[in-house]
Amino acid sequence: MPPWIPASIVALGLLGLGNTVGYHRLLTHRAFVTGLTVRAVLTMLGAVAGGSPVVWVGLHRLHHARSDGEGDPHSPRDSGFAWAHAGWILGTRRPLPVLLFALSGFGQQAMIALHDLRRLRGTNPPVWRDLCGDLMKEPLMRALDTPGVMPAWFLGQLAVAWAVGGGWGIAWLWAVHLALTNSSWAVNSVAHWPRFGRQPRPTGDDSRDVPWLALVTLGEAWHNAHHRHPRSARHGLDGGLDPSWRVIQALCAVGLARQPWLPKEARPASKA
Ligand SMILES: [Zn+2]
Ligand SMILES: [Zn+2]
Repeated sequence: MPPWIPASIVALGLLGLGNTVGYHRLLTHRAFVTGLTVRAVLTMLGAVAGGSPVVWVGLHRLHHARSDGEGDPHSPRDSGFAWAHAGWILGTRRPLPVLLFALSGFGQQAMIALHDLRRLRGTNPPVWRDLCGDLMKEPLMRALDTPGVMPAWFLGQLAVAWAVGGGWGIAWLWAVHLALTNSSWAVNSVAHWPRFGRQPRPTGDDSRDVPWLALVTLGEAWHNAHHRHPRSARHGLDGGLDPSWRVIQALCAVGLARQPWLPKEARPASKA
């Protein structure tokens, strides 16, 4: 087996977990507790493709607060599938530019750099930053949210990829970013689109559980369960594949995490 295959699986797993376990379940929803080192490692892994944790968390908290209603940054309800997937980042509902952007791999990094430039010019008021008062108390989060730091983190990735594999190294990094961004965006588009999956729990929004998307999203596709119980460390509440929950359980088992929050319906005592 060529070495890039296991390297890709490990990289996609670790970086994906940085997004799902780190940015989403730990930083956004405080679904469990860790020490500073584990928190920093998960955050840096999430930052490889996700940009500033303050931006990511702020936008995602806004999504939960306004889910599929006015002010939701990426609902497909009135704006369509393309908007929900990545059009909201570009500012267009037209499918073709969104498709090209989704296939661009590094497109999100370009938008992150543009966002930082706008912040430096003071023309992009970050209203959702008000939702991240907890994160802004942490020096690491403030540092990663400083304009220019995330583009520098990406340039570092390019430098390492070039040093290790030249042009093939850059191509590999591009494919990794392509997979990471689209799997994350699919939770916003596919798992809020009425044609896919099912909605077993009433939430008042369009969130769906989409079983076929569970593996590539590392368990985030149990999105209806997640909207019903946003703080739950486990999203596959009905027993569905949820690798991120298994990792949180493993971190707890070895003492690197604690206090994973679960809703009553998922606690062993309530089933008895
Ligand atoms: Zn959602
Ligand atoms: Zn969430």
